[in-house]
Amino acid sequence: MNKDGQDLSDMRRAMVRCQLVTRGISDGRVLEAMERVPREQFVPEHLRFEAYEDHPVPIGQGQTISQPYIVALMAEALCLKGRERVLDIGTGSGYAAAVLASLALEVFSIERIPELAAQARKNLDRTGFTQVHVKCADGTLGWPEAAPFDGICVAAGAPAVPAALKQQLAVGGRLVIPVGTEGGLQQLLCITRLSDSEYEQASYGDVRFVPLLGEEGWP
Ligand code: SAH
Repeated sequence: MNKDGQDLSDMRRAMVRCQLVTRGISDGRVLEAMERVPREQFVPEHLRFEAYEDHPVPIGQGQTISQPYIVALMAEALCLKGRERVLDIGTGSGYAAAVLASLALEVFSIERIPELAAQARKNLDRTGFTQVHVKCADGTLGWPEAAPFDGICVAAGAPAVPAALKQQLAVGGRLVIPVGTEGGLQQLLCITRLSDSEYEQASYGDVRFVPLLGEEGWP
């Protein structure tokens, strides 16, 4: 139930069926998490009824909460089983962090805009995801004190894969990140760390994200 006493779980179930299952999301744990996390609690109140639509929704400060399918696609690419420590870059509303927290053991999330980090903290606390760590900083440098991570999820488009994030990935871990031109199309890459020095890369197709701004991102 949300604050108005309205239960949007029907909309949530329809979103999972029509936007995720039909497009090939098949990890049962990801589908379950997407069906459980109340996405309407992470968008501004006046946009609550857009929360389950098949597109990104504005969350203030010129930023958006990603389309449900993209959140599910990135979560599925991380192949989480429940014991992992995950780094989430670009907290935004906190929604993706909540989905990841439903799939992994511990989530560390970084947002560069203080107002959004504060709002995300509120959204996560209100929905019971009090265990997610949120800090306001430049996520392109990662979170060295908490590294290594079994999964890293970057929700903003980078010019290239930040070296710090590759370094903070555990061997066997996966990094999902959109890489491409500023304000244009990016390719969603999944990078797996095979050993200390070897990485393997796969592409999940074209996506469009807001730019990753920072020392190892766009200026
Ligand atoms: N995952 C979010 C959506 C994020 S939109 C959600 O579920 O709502 C991308 C976010 O990345 C924006 O909030 C933007 O401010 C943030 N961002 C951009 N560059 C960043 C950086 N270097 N470090 C941390 N956050 C960054």
